[in-house]
Amino acid sequence: MKKTALITDLDNTLFDWVDLWFACFSSMLDSIVDISGIAKDVLVPEIAAVHQKHGTSEYSFLIEEIPSLRPILRGRKATEVFAPAIEIFRRKRRDHLVLFPTVAETLLKIKGKGTRIIGYTESMAFYSNYRIRRLGLDGVLNYVFCPEDHRLPEGLSESDLRNYPASHYELKYSKQEFTPRGSKKPDTAVLDAIIADLNLNKRDCVYIGDNLFKDVAMALDCGVEDVWAKYGQAHKRPEYQLLIDVTHWSPDEVQREQTIKQRDVNPTHVLDKSFAQLTEMFEFGDFHGQ
Ligand SMILES: [Mg+2]
Repeated sequence: MKKTALITDLDNTLFDWVDLWFACFSSMLDSIVDISGIAKDVLVPEIAAVHQKHGTSEYSFLIEEIPSLRPILRGRKATEVFAPAIEIFRRKRRDHLVLFPTVAETLLKIKGKGTRIIGYTESMAFYSNYRIRRLGLDGVLNYVFCPEDHRLPEGLSESDLRNYPASHYELKYSKQEFTPRGSKKPDTAVLDAIIADLNLNKRDCVYIGDNLFKDVAMALDCGVEDVWAKYGQAHKRPEYQLLIDVTHWSPDEVQREQTIKQRDVNPTHVLDKSFAQLTEMFEFGDFHGQ
């Protein structure tokens, strides 16, 4: 049976988001400690509170909102006082933002068959669009479904904060659709809506993601053929603890992720080595004729 739509998670399925996040965040945090003289264990819970408030663990205005840093900033811009912290964050981002091996050629191969490729991520538009563009996926993905951005800090407009016109931050070739506020994997509502919106047949679709509890469980519940990107799972790595310490996820979500086992959610297909295994498992075909 040919698959004519590939629905894919982005973070840790197409690239190593955890590695990227850790490299950027931990070096920025070390630099904040150096500049401010404030200990990490004071900063970490304050950072967690900011992330919780905004519903993301990647928040551009983090430094401004950490209470302990306010007396240091005294109204000055974080981009000036903490310039080295921001610089190292950006340098690490340049170095660590790369696709997993075989992802690029496999996506192109599948796309070349005329298959529709749809990204579905829980990372907010501003952050995921940057990565999609830098990874060269704008246009490779036909559609990207993701949440809208968090609200901007009070008194600031987009043009105050961003160096380029709004169009610079948008996808040029992939069509972007926003998922409803508060919707989360493994709730099947969004996946169902994607399939309905794009007029797809469930039996023609395959869904791939690295998270058993979110991605695989959702696809199974939805009745879409599921693939577990096991090569991408990251929650057992030591550096993952820092993410848990400052995460915006609820304690319940963290707990479920840490304790879930393959036998609890039983994936139909497992990619234990690389994304390229997808083309050994499925035949991809042209959606145009349907
Ligand atoms: Mg993921």
